[in-house]
Amino acid sequence: MKVRCITLGSFQVNAYLLEDPATGHCAVIDTGEGPQLARVLAEIDPRPDLRAILLTHAHFDHAGGLADLQQAFPEAIAWLPVLERPMYDLLPQQGSMLFGMPSFDRPLGRIDREVRDGETVDISGDWRLRFLSTPGHTPGQGCYYDDTYIFVGDTLFAGGIGRTDFPMSDPELMEQSLHRLMELPGHLLVCSGHGPATTLDQELKTNPYLSGVRRRKQAASRS
Ligand SMILES: [Zn+2]
Repeated sequence: MKVRCITLGSFQVNAYLLEDPATGHCAVIDTGEGPQLARVLAEIDPRPDLRAILLTHAHFDHAGGLADLQQAFPEAIAWLPVLERPMYDLLPQQGSMLFGMPSFDRPLGRIDREVRDGETVDISGDWRLRFLSTPGHTPGQGCYYDDTYIFVGDTLFAGGIGRTDFPMSDPELMEQSLHRLMELPGHLLVCSGHGPATTLDQELKTNPYLSGVRRRKQAASRS
């Protein structure tokens, strides 16, 4: 799988363009807040053969560009974590209602499929990604991964984690989600919703927000 990071908009969100080199089929992880990703993709030659749009969560800076992207690529199948539906449905009022930024109220795009914890997202042929539900930053935030990469949205950053002081965030759920995330193989290359890439191992060793996870893992390895 080829992965290209495209950083977009006022919130410097990382969207990712994935390509299966064997077929040329593509997928994107997150859309940015508006039409910018559709424009970036339209300028790529040859035009990406976009089969799927995978949303990590439905904050407007990650999902607000879905409707614009679908205008340009109507054939791509859009996936949403099932628990994220309440946040997604708020997109037309999310900026104004939750964040006091009415200029970021965004139109709803079309959700074709919902994905649950432990399920697989079939992108095309035998190209698929697994899904881990990691709520906390939002009610249904989740991560998509294969044997090399994990796309974590705002669950985990290099040296940080997603905020849990937003409306509909849940710090306790976030703690549980981080424990589950850190059960995955440490070599996985973490592609976050903001900022640089890292690995699960690197974060487990150095991320100050994972001290609880570290303690519990150390205790488990001693017993
Ligand atoms: Zn977010």
